[in-house]
Amino acid sequence: MSNKNKFSLYGLPEKVEHCSKCLMTNQKPFSVNEMVHGVEVKKFGLDIHEDGLCSACHYADKKKDKIDWEEREKLLIEKLNKYRRNDGRYDCVVPGSGGKDSGMASHILKYKYGMHPLTVTYSPLLYTEEGLRNMANWINIGGFDNILFTPNGKVSRILAREAFDNLLHPIQPFKFGLKIYPIKVAMQYNIDLVFYGEPRSEYGSEDPNKVDKPGFGEEFYSIDKDQSELYIAGMPINELKKKHNLSDNDIEPYSAIHFDKLKSKNIQVDNLGWYLKWDPQSAYYYAVENCGFQPDDQRTDGTYGKYASIDDKFDSLHYFCHYIKFGIGRTRLDASQEIRNNHIDREEAILLAKQFEGEFPERYINDCLQFLNLKREEFWEKIDHFRSPHLWKKENNKWILYQELKELL
Ligand SMILES: [Zn+2]
Repeated sequence: MSNKNKFSLYGLPEKVEHCSKCLMTNQKPFSVNEMVHGVEVKKFGLDIHEDGLCSACHYADKKKDKIDWEEREKLLIEKLNKYRRNDGRYDCVVPGSGGKDSGMASHILKYKYGMHPLTVTYSPLLYTEEGLRNMANWINIGGFDNILFTPNGKVSRILAREAFDNLLHPIQPFKFGLKIYPIKVAMQYNIDLVFYGEPRSEYGSEDPNKVDKPGFGEEFYSIDKDQSELYIAGMPINELKKKHNLSDNDIEPYSAIHFDKLKSKNIQVDNLGWYLKWDPQSAYYYAVENCGFQPDDQRTDGTYGKYASIDDKFDSLHYFCHYIKFGIGRTRLDASQEIRNNHIDREEAILLAKQFEGEFPERYINDCLQFLNLKREEFWEKIDHFRSPHLWKKENNKWILYQELKELL
């Protein structure tokens, strides 16, 4: 990495500030636009306000008592009345893979509000057994039509490896598909409404000032630049194509939608979690009840839960990479969300983090390394290369996060 600022590798603040309510810090980066995500992109992180709380906690307080949820549901019903079709065609796309949130979103839209969703799945890099079972149950027990798109595995492997090497973010190219493919399907089927489930604010990945509206802006899935100006896996597209001898067709699943192509359409991309009070735990119970969703029989590596993001063998490695780059692992993310939703308190969260935060994703690591064509030694070299010096230092041959909460040191 040739980042100019060698101290804080990703441009995040050099002094780590901790939220006094949840376990987030100001190092939690907001999602960046993946299409222009080169290695030098500066990241912006969660704000810690003067009262000591992070913006995600502020948003959660607002969700609790400052939002008129009856009024929001009225807005939802008005919107659905406008888009509902009774001519046999689909009237909305629900992207998902049969996890708890897409399960609940699609089921409520179809069976409570009388919509006719087409569910759309962009295949995970490496399905887990649980993921495949939940996917099948979503369709067969939940009762939905579904389009499953699986991109060329040879190309996926090349891109995942580049994204690991350049960004320590192996699932970054997959995220393109996740965001863009459902919109492409909506365009093909002339469907004007796309509904995601979980609100983007739950995990602090989005600037709460931007998420306080129901929909995603066009910049979420489209761009007004030529392809030659865009990036995949942290590399300019043309460089990537040349290096691996990839054709335009090889990278089609990752190609952005140009703004111009959207002009003739009026596609709305919304979050059901903006209209209805959403809580990941309730979504889990709902999906078990209505879509045959089953949790894993083992605890997920790196955290204490068994039911969130369990469909891709790469999920745990992804969160481990997040922990290396930002000092924030999966336990912290899960526990912080649960504090905000009043399921656990801060003391319990700290105990969980002591036990599981930063745990190595052993269960599926061999599958992931094989997919990436990477040896363990090379893997650790890369990992250490992405530890930002303002977060990590080596003491007695052991890496420590030296600006960590004192309870966790
Ligand atoms: Zn917080």
